[in-house]
Amino acid sequence: APPSPVVGRFAPSPTGRLHFGSLLAALASHCDARSRGGRWLVRIDDLDAARAIPGMDADILRTLEAYGFSWDGEVAYQSRNLIHYEAAFATLRDRGWLYPCGCSRRDLAEAPRAIDGSTLYPGTCREGLPPGRTARAWRFRAEGCVVFDDRIQGRVVEDLPREVGDFVVKRADGVFAYQLAVVIDDALGGVTDVVRGADLLGSTARQIALHRALGLPVPRYAHLPVAVDARGDKLSKQTRARPLEAAEASVRLAQALDFLGHTPPAELRGAPPAELLAWAVAHWKIDEVPALRQCLHPDGL
Ligand code: GLU
Repeated sequence: APPSPVVGRFAPSPTGRLHFGSLLAALASHCDARSRGGRWLVRIDDLDAARAIPGMDADILRTLEAYGFSWDGEVAYQSRNLIHYEAAFATLRDRGWLYPCGCSRRDLAEAPRAIDGSTLYPGTCREGLPPGRTARAWRFRAEGCVVFDDRIQGRVVEDLPREVGDFVVKRADGVFAYQLAVVIDDALGGVTDVVRGADLLGSTARQIALHRALGLPVPRYAHLPVAVDARGDKLSKQTRARPLEAAEASVRLAQALDFLGHTPPAELRGAPPAELLAWAVAHWKIDEVPALRQCLHPDGL
């Protein structure tokens, strides 16, 4: 049989230890790829060096191993892909998709908000830098509607100019924006299927627009429900989400599978992580994952 063309990935940021939300993304992307005979990659999203914690990549990889995961090939690092981001940036600029923006945060304080809470850029520098302004960031010209069929959330329609506006691809401090980096990373890895939390659903249209502008294949997307507390707040490294401990791997994997609509049978209770993962891969059906953007996390997490 020809090798499966499916390639999935898990892309944690090394800004803190893995938590229950990270486990959901790792587990679902792993099962989605492996259940179709595909490859599963791990990438460390350490683009923003100021936020990366030294040594956290090793901690993350150790935790993944303790939870029974194994990945294909070498772990990728965004910090080693800068040359590729530069090349993509130059291509977009040469094709007229980008323009320099001289607006400071203060200039944009009154601007309306985009769907993700960031600034909906009013277009001040779109037709050229106003006199006296110097280039700070570089923006991508948002044009048209992006429509995609999320494998879990269904059809998503986003009117880029109205909902997101011209967005930054290179920040004033010279760091490439996550939106650009992730598109290049996924293309370099040959990723066919992005499976991640619904907190990133609002970034997807921008990423699709960049894939298209660069002539890169657009992956399929599946956005998982995000674990929230009773107040509706997302569990994150910044809040009180407990890190994943190696000693509780079996319990946490079972909770994560239950959350994703794949409750393991009673006889697998307490089974080693690798056994739970093997069961999950064999029984994985993405249609069983709840099509919600938020779900209450299991107690005690
Ligand atoms: N590194 C991102 C995060 O941890 C995820 C990127 C992605 O899955 O596209 O939130």
